[in-house]
Amino acid sequence: MKYYSIHRKAPDTNFATAVIKGLAPDRGLYFPEQIEPLPKSFFDNIDRLSDTEIAFKSIRQFVSSDIPEHILKTIIEDTLSFDFPVVQLDKHISTLELFHGPTMAFKDVGARFMARCLGYFNADNQKDVTVLVATSGDTGGAVANGFLGVKGVNVVILYPSGKVSDIQEKQLTTLGQNITALEVDGVFDDCQDMVKQAFLDDNITSQMQLTSANSINVARWLPQLFYFMFAYKQLYKKHDSIVFSIPSGNFGNICAGMVAQQLGLPVHHFIAANNANNIVTEYLETQQYQPKPSVQTISNAMDVGNPSNFIRIQEIYGNDFNRLKNNLSSFSYSDSQTKAAMRELYDKYNYIADPHGAVGYLGCKGFLKQNPNTHGVFLETAHPTKFLNVVEDVIDTKVELPLQIQSVMDKEKVALKISSYEELKSYLLGTKGH
Ligand SMILES: *Cc1c(COP(=O)(O)O)cnc(C)c1O
Repeated sequence: MKYYSIHRKAPDTNFATAVIKGLAPDRGLYFPEQIEPLPKSFFDNIDRLSDTEIAFKSIRQFVSSDIPEHILKTIIEDTLSFDFPVVQLDKHISTLELFHGPTMAFKDVGARFMARCLGYFNADNQKDVTVLVATSGDTGGAVANGFLGVKGVNVVILYPSGKVSDIQEKQLTTLGQNITALEVDGVFDDCQDMVKQAFLDDNITSQMQLTSANSINVARWLPQLFYFMFAYKQLYKKHDSIVFSIPSGNFGNICAGMVAQQLGLPVHHFIAANNANNIVTEYLETQQYQPKPSVQTISNAMDVGNPSNFIRIQEIYGNDFNRLKNNLSSFSYSDSQTKAAMRELYDKYNYIADPHGAVGYLGCKGFLKQNPNTHGVFLETAHPTKFLNVVEDVIDTKVELPLQIQSVMDKEKVALKISSYEELKSYLLGTKGH
């Protein structure tokens, strides 16, 4: 499988290089050259396959021979060592719970898969790869955990001091080994700006191999297509016309779902559920794509003003607005609507949702109103305890901490404080060549 840059000003490359580089030399996102549908029999008999068999058959063509079959199978088995249950709430609505991984965020799968691929590609290299990430909370923990102990890869995470929850901070700062947390005196945008500057700094990139671990990286983005297959497997004998409502920020998850559909997965429609950051909702109404500065909400992992994967979605539909609109609806909700949805889920179904899942639920309901003969599945992307303050406040109930979280709360925080780009740079250059 070849990957091309969406800007089309860089040479095609293979999976391995796309993973190591993250972004093409022309700063475009990589995209697979073609997507070969899986046979219909695969979907007809999908409930006879294990999750790891489904994952292997779905991702094989994207990895091609860059990773030998038996190693790819091991990578997938390691990555998927937890459950992806669908919980049916009523006749028309189910939720796919993506928070049963080690950091209880759906990003665990992408981070774990990418870490293992990168570890494999870099196994014989003298020089380590350094993964540099800025996080506003949820990504960092999943990336740190996913890469923990992977040989040949160091992870440096920047997070804004005092701006992430206690749980999130502990998940970032207590791992040790090849994971370093840098506590930045600033806000998330400062962290992100420092990371961007480092990638453009020849002084750094000539001396060390830097890569990013956000959903622009194909190895983090593509394995998310497994979720949609796993949901289908659990639902297709009970329901026709399955629609997915995906709480979206950078649109990587929903875009992976669309790749699953290109592979032949019978998905009736996609719903991008947004908070007040409604660029895509507006685009589908007006055909004007207008990025805006992000606004802060209680579903803060979706506070994105210019979703980086939307360009991949447009690629899938050949940049044809009407084709896209036939397949995608988008709704945007305020924080007060989100809170009301959390209360409704709790009162009506005794279901505790996090704010992101609640936005997904609203998206489902919005679509079902006009399309009552479909079955809506909203993705629950984080465990409610990841957003404990909001959740306990809104449903006025104590939520018990799961074991994964309890164990991390007792560990000691270790972080290096930095307050300028120069400090980041001297830290990075001091680590090179380990
Ligand atoms: C990252 C994240 C999202 C948004 O996912 P995208 O792939 O960026 O659209 C939604 N919910 C949670 C909890 C997240 O961490």
